[in-house]
Amino acid sequence: MQISFNNRKNNVDTNLNFQGEIDPTQRAWIEVSRKAIEANVRKLRSKLKNNCEFMAVVKADGYGHDAKVVSENAIRGGASQLGVATLKEGIKLRSSSINVPILVLGNLYAKKDLLICFRNDLMPTVSSIRECLICNEIGKINNMKFSLHLKIDTGMSRLGFECDEFVQQFNNIKSLKNIDVKGIYSHLACADEKNALNPKSRTQLQREKFQELLKLVSIDNTKNIKIHLANSAGMILGKNFHFDMVRVGLAMYGYDPLINTTEKSLLKPALFLKAKVTFVRTIEKGVGVSYGNKFVSDRKTKLAVLSIGYADGIIRSLSGKISLIHNKKLYPQVGSITMDQMMVDITDSEDIKVGSTMLLLGSDGEQTISPIDWAHKCDSIPWEILCSFKNRLPRVQVD
Ligand SMILES: *Cc1c(COP(=O)(O)O)cnc(C)c1O
Repeated sequence: MQISFNNRKNNVDTNLNFQGEIDPTQRAWIEVSRKAIEANVRKLRSKLKNNCEFMAVVKADGYGHDAKVVSENAIRGGASQLGVATLKEGIKLRSSSINVPILVLGNLYAKKDLLICFRNDLMPTVSSIRECLICNEIGKINNMKFSLHLKIDTGMSRLGFECDEFVQQFNNIKSLKNIDVKGIYSHLACADEKNALNPKSRTQLQREKFQELLKLVSIDNTKNIKIHLANSAGMILGKNFHFDMVRVGLAMYGYDPLINTTEKSLLKPALFLKAKVTFVRTIEKGVGVSYGNKFVSDRKTKLAVLSIGYADGIIRSLSGKISLIHNKKLYPQVGSITMDQMMVDITDSEDIKVGSTMLLLGSDGEQTISPIDWAHKCDSIPWEILCSFKNRLPRVQVD
């Protein structure tokens, strides 16, 4: 039999000269709730000590939510400063017309980078005299003061001046005319541990060490130097961790690092991860699914093929361990997650079809799936889950 290809043309959609953009919600995408970010900042701020400022931490593209969108809505909720990890992240926000103070949390050691930092009105985190001197020189050449924050290591062993040396070094730093110390801070290493409120915990010891040290340096009160220590977990631990500012990431995105699920939390998850069903098939009992055929059906099974995989950032070791939501009901993912697709058992569904949207993270009615749940299943942490999503997933703002 001869097949005429010309005839086939008549059976397909004739509107083939579509010129517009691809619909970002056609395959797999992340929806970001602007209202959730704003509401979370408001809620968290209501728990702060009087006059304590809120720095919204928007590094790693706002924990995968889109740093610009997060920044704008955090500021609307009352955040007065922003924290980024890299110079590039800071510059990107400056070029999006964001003009609140921005602190670079990572270490800039190259002269050139510190100069770029200065020119973009970003504040570096400084952990050594060497960098103080470079900043002072840059300020001097420009006949200005270079604003920066000093960091002290109180138990993280990452960035920061040594506690023992800081008092002496701070005296030297004070004599540098072309730098303006806007903040002094430290970072907690264990604030999300269960025992953090125990008076002998490492977190309490870090706080005491920080406080003791600050008593030893004479800080000029007229200079409005912001003292800060707490990340999300530290902020939630209580007011004695608040000082003049808190640096909040995870909680602002809707996840309380001190509790195991989102259920008890008053925070609202801002991220909804969704994907479309692109194909539906029914397999008989005893049929293998996906690479390695690691899943074999134990009944006649209806499968939905979803257009999302590990190249979108879905960690492959979650294969067979997660469920997806459709219409307030949960459906198990089965077989290995592949690079671009995954299969879901929808035998019990009447309504899922090609073009249906399934929810991987977020809530629908009573059902909620959070990065905290995923983290438990693949030996990870919610922070890592959130920043694993790739740029192939368009970020779409809702509400
Ligand atoms: C990432 C980061 C934060 C925010 O941490 P969360 O636990 O997400 O609130 C605060 N401070 C520093 C120095 C950081 O690197």
